[in-house]
Amino acid sequence: MISAGNKLKSVAALVALALSATVSAGVSDKDILNDQATTHDVVSNGMGLKGQRYSPLTHINTETVKDIRPVWGFSLGGEKQRGQESQPVIKDGVMYITGSYSRVFAIDVMTGDELWQYDARLPDGIMPCCDVINRGVALFGDLVIFGTLDAKLVALNKKTGKTVWKKKVEDYKAGYSITAAPIVVKGKVITGVSGGEFGVVGKVRAYDAKTGQIAWERPTVEGHMGYIWKNGKKVENGISGGEPGKTWTGDLWKSGGAAPWLGGTYDPEVDLLFFGTGNPAPWNSHLRPGDNLFSSSRLGIDPDTGKIKWHFQTTPHDGWDYDGVNEVVAFNYKSGGKTIKAAATADRNGFFYVLNRENGDFIRGFPFVDKITWAKGLDKNGRPIYNEAIRPGNPAASKDGKKGSTVVAAPSFLGGKNWMPMAYSKDTGLFYVPSNEWEMDIWNEPTAYKKGAAYLGAGFTIRSINDDYIGVLKAIDPVSGKEVWRHKNYAPLWGGVLATAGNLVFMGNPEGYLMAFDAKTGEVKYKFNTGSGIVGSPVTWDMNGEQYISILSGWGGAVPLWGGEVAKRVKDFNQGGMVWTFKLPK
Ligand code: CA
Ligand code: CA
Repeated sequence: MISAGNKLKSVAALVALALSATVSAGVSDKDILNDQATTHDVVSNGMGLKGQRYSPLTHINTETVKDIRPVWGFSLGGEKQRGQESQPVIKDGVMYITGSYSRVFAIDVMTGDELWQYDARLPDGIMPCCDVINRGVALFGDLVIFGTLDAKLVALNKKTGKTVWKKKVEDYKAGYSITAAPIVVKGKVITGVSGGEFGVVGKVRAYDAKTGQIAWERPTVEGHMGYIWKNGKKVENGISGGEPGKTWTGDLWKSGGAAPWLGGTYDPEVDLLFFGTGNPAPWNSHLRPGDNLFSSSRLGIDPDTGKIKWHFQTTPHDGWDYDGVNEVVAFNYKSGGKTIKAAATADRNGFFYVLNRENGDFIRGFPFVDKITWAKGLDKNGRPIYNEAIRPGNPAASKDGKKGSTVVAAPSFLGGKNWMPMAYSKDTGLFYVPSNEWEMDIWNEPTAYKKGAAYLGAGFTIRSINDDYIGVLKAIDPVSGKEVWRHKNYAPLWGGVLATAGNLVFMGNPEGYLMAFDAKTGEVKYKFNTGSGIVGSPVTWDMNGEQYISILSGWGGAVPLWGGEVAKRVKDFNQGGMVWTFKLPK
């Protein structure tokens, strides 16, 4: 017989056991799947695998946000201050962020004190196309997992920052790198690769998150064999898209690009990964007549096998480097009493697409920027109706064969929207899209593939369309296609967006401000200058009954490197590297 006292003791022991089991088990698949609803932590990129970047927290709202203030700042230090595109994650009182040059930091969220720092020793020959950035870590178990500029996945012990496993994903000498935040789905860590500007073969790869053992590999260029690993043995798992080179010319599919460089999202309802793919290589489209699958597309991928279940190509035969990598965000809406399982994506090419996320079918599409010249619109299947006059000319048709005719194309190749993630609020039913209004001169030149060399066959210069703004944060109704409000910004926007149940939308700008907007009207409710340009994505969470907002500040990314006339506009923006954390006063 157990006495009352003993019973209490045993209950306490059980509770302690349960607690220690929870603590030592670390982040589970369930934690990741529930991330959006559990406000005390942020354990995934996108604040939930769907990538909605929405929080149900309401303490900080349109009434109270004016009173938030920084509680700590954290410097990423050193000479390695370049674009800081990381989204923080927070678990058990610790924040994990990445910094430029493949660094990871663990920070005490109460004090802002550094707990550890990991610095990947990068070789000299890395080939990032667009600044030495990184977009954040994945958490699983006791591991902090991220991708490096020399195309490795590294898993660190969350307590010590010491390497637990490290895997070479691809050969950096061929132009591969990793900049995306990985995601973890059903115990597998899943990553894409960058390198479309070097004629790599795009791939999505899955690894056992605990051990780093490879699980499957899915090339994203039609014609390449996929693989699955069974009991450690590599087994062929079907050619991507069937026959090699069906939608390509000659052997160009062998260096076809289509790099899924922004990583992916996942929806458990339909059990699919959603990855976007970059440009077909080279940029000069006259060298590769055909649709060039699966470049500039969105893919629905089976998380267990890597099989491509559906594809939707936003820019077939891309001739403008519009890529097609932008995030696919799952959301549901009601139509005629029926729930539509949709997904939305805002493409570099200037069109916003709503797809059926079960099968990739096109539901609707509409422009989300003011000026699109390369296409006259979309047909009933969502395929662009090209304006052939705006395809850069064929150098082979020019007098000396060295330069095709120049065209003025809008949007510019940096896109109506680039990597910076939008947010979706289920309260307003709106997407909050960080967009840019710019155009480019673009022309083609002859080129040939050479391993590890830039493979563009194009030249370009970007400029603003309007004198007083390039960036436009837009609230867009995905069902009607209507713009509900807009907020103009002088510099091009390059940072992510966050929506909250406090009727707020948060975003940073290159001028350095963290800003909060009324989600319904777009009215600016708060701004704070963080001292350097913001190209990172804000997050929010709560702790001890208080709501916190965090964001990285640190100007950089592709705009200063590739922005042409626009680069001149932003040349006086100062670099930096800080995390800022805000809350309401007690
Ligand atoms: Ca959470
Ligand atoms: Ca590209």
